[in-house]
Amino acid sequence: MAIQLFKAKYEIDECLAQIRECLEIGWTGLGFKTVEFENAWKEYTGLPFAHFVNSDTAGLYLAVDILKEHYGWQDGDEIITTPITFVSTNHAIIKSNLKAVFADVDETLCLNPASVQSKITDKTRAIMYVGLGGNMGNYYDIVRICNENNLKFILDAAHMSGTRYKGRIPGREAEVVVYSYQAVKNLPTADSGMICFKNGDLDEVARKKSWLGINKDTYSRSNNSGNYKWRYDVEYVGDKYHSNSIMAAIGLAQLKYLDRDNAYRRQLVKWYRKKLSAYPDKIKLVKIEDGCESSCHLFQILVDDRDGLIMELNANEIYPGVHYASNINYKMYDYAKGTCPYSDYVSEHVISLPMHMYLTFEDVNRICDVIIKFVNRDI
Ligand SMILES: *Cc1c(COP(=O)(O)O)cnc(C)c1O
Repeated sequence: MAIQLFKAKYEIDECLAQIRECLEIGWTGLGFKTVEFENAWKEYTGLPFAHFVNSDTAGLYLAVDILKEHYGWQDGDEIITTPITFVSTNHAIIKSNLKAVFADVDETLCLNPASVQSKITDKTRAIMYVGLGGNMGNYYDIVRICNENNLKFILDAAHMSGTRYKGRIPGREAEVVVYSYQAVKNLPTADSGMICFKNGDLDEVARKKSWLGINKDTYSRSNNSGNYKWRYDVEYVGDKYHSNSIMAAIGLAQLKYLDRDNAYRRQLVKWYRKKLSAYPDKIKLVKIEDGCESSCHLFQILVDDRDGLIMELNANEIYPGVHYASNINYKMYDYAKGTCPYSDYVSEHVISLPMHMYLTFEDVNRICDVIIKFVNRDI
């Protein structure tokens, strides 16, 4: 049986029951379940505000745009970011006419605090942080650097749904946290995300800007003392970035199982690490920080012949992935070529092994056996 990198597991009956409610009351749009899901997410994370959007990408675009406007950042001002991420993290910076300044990652595969420190200039306004694979990396060192240098902390938490640090969900430290509920993430809905500002005024702005700049959504207008209050004003050239009640319905059903699912992911990681840690000179495991209870969105290792290993795994019907090729390799970010040597190394040597709720102990063993045989082959 082929083993895929990802396979989302849905609580099908509960998802359908939630969706049925939307269909029965005749409301699948913005409002209704989206409000319920926002409230559930605030309660789950302890974050003060949450606005449900159609993707993490849309959330990041809004986040940078709104912070830029609020703090009066100028075109060409800089945000320090990581090359080891999905491109939407960095596109969000460019999209607002700011400059993505790349710092290197360390053995956690997240931003290296010393490298970040060395990239700060008088144009630096913020640091964009990615908790890669659901790990924290040196998160609190980066927070400290932000505080010491008066920089805003933006968290792309696409991989971090359910990650805890010493028992708490991180994120209060950030000006804004953006989550992804895309089809392969830990809380899959098909496509959607959440933008969580620390400041309630900015949450209000996000709500307007995610619906064309209109200052009242249809649902709150229709609920207003039973009358459809059709009048509204338009305050911005906004986008259509909000999500809908069908996605929220799936999110509400899945959220109940997020901690259970993440606990199983951590079990899978334990099985992987137990077998693979016997070959430290051939298989490099990603460093995990003390106190971090990772969502384990990914399980990554680094090996010498990564591309050879992928072919060998494929020959055994095992389909791993790569997260990520350094963004500096892409044409539009190649102005930063040569500035992040460890990221270049990661880009060539990292591999993501299958990680999902349908994997068994036997699957993990089968995957590890192929890897162990490959790295110990006579060359
Ligand atoms: C998936 C992902 C995104 C984009 O999420 P969408 O919800 O698909 O827009 C952004 N950043 C990282 C690190 C991701 O993994």
